[in-house]
Parts: sequence; structure tokens; C-alpha cells
Amino acid sequence: MTDDSDSPMTDTENTTTGPLAPEDITADSAFTLPGFFDALSEGRLLAARCTECDTHMLPPRPACYGCGSRAVTLSEQPRTGEVISYTSVNRPPSAFEHLAPITVAVVELDSSARLTGRVAAPLDDVSIGDRVELRVRDPETVDIDPDFDLSYEEEWPIHVFELM
Ligand SMILES: [Zn+2]
Repeated sequence: MTDDSDSPMTDTENTTTGPLAPEDITADSAFTLPGFFDALSEGRLLAARCTECDTHMLPPRPACYGCGSRAVTLSEQPRTGEVISYTSVNRPPSAFEHLAPITVAVVELDSSARLTGRVAAPLDDVSIGDRVELRVRDPETVDIDPDFDLSYEEEWPIHVFELM
């Protein structure tokens, strides 16, 4: 059993062992985006890791996009990592349009899983190698326009990286 009160710094906390069968992938499984976002809204950032070649998949996928194996495990990820690439997006999705230009980065988490997301800082303040921490916010507390959300996205939490 897992203990949600801990904030793990490694991704050794495996919650599922593969190989997965199609019946394992239910609509609320963390291997689907709704299941992934459900876990994220509860404060758990989940990735899948291939037990054959060690590729991380974030959000989790039921099969490895490195080697095709379905022997994947779910593991909770650390919230901290390092910017490995970043750019400015001048025409973001409509819900974020009034925030443009936004900074988007590829972050390598301390587990070595990679996650792309918005950085809450202007482009000029961000550098490769910067330490960042993931924040998860309720969409209602974020300054975005809900009219532009797709219906199934309305309750998904918003993730953003903040410079440490
Ligand atoms: Zn693999």
C-alpha cells in the first residue's frame, strides 16, 4: 500500500506491475489521461516506466514507446527537476491567450522522467539547468478562460513549473 503523505524523491514506489492486459486499462486507469489527471488533482504525479528498457512515460502509457513492451509499472514522480529545453509560445491555446507570450519548458525530473509544461516566468528569466518545482492548481484558481476549455478538460488540474 502507498502512503500519500510522503513526497518521494525517487520513483521506486511502484503501484502496478505488468505486463498489462487490455482489461487493465479501464477509463479511470492512470494509463488514460483522465486517470492521470485524477491522480494529479490528488497531488500524485504518475509516470509509467518500462521494466524492459527503463524508458519513462509521462503521462503514463500502457505500452513502452521505446521498445513496445507492455511490461510497465506506475510510479509516483518527484516534483522537482531541471530545465533542459525551453521556448516562448506567442500564440498559446485560447484559454491561455491573454497570458501570451508564455514560457514552455521540457523539464527533466529528478527521476529522469521528462515533462513538458508552462513555466511561471518570463522567457528572459529562464535558463537551461534552472531548478524548477511543479505546482498543481485547481483550474478555478488559475487565471484562464474556462469558456475555451474542452468539456472533458474542465476539471483537469493545471500544472505549471515555478523557478526554485
Ligand atoms: Zn521499453
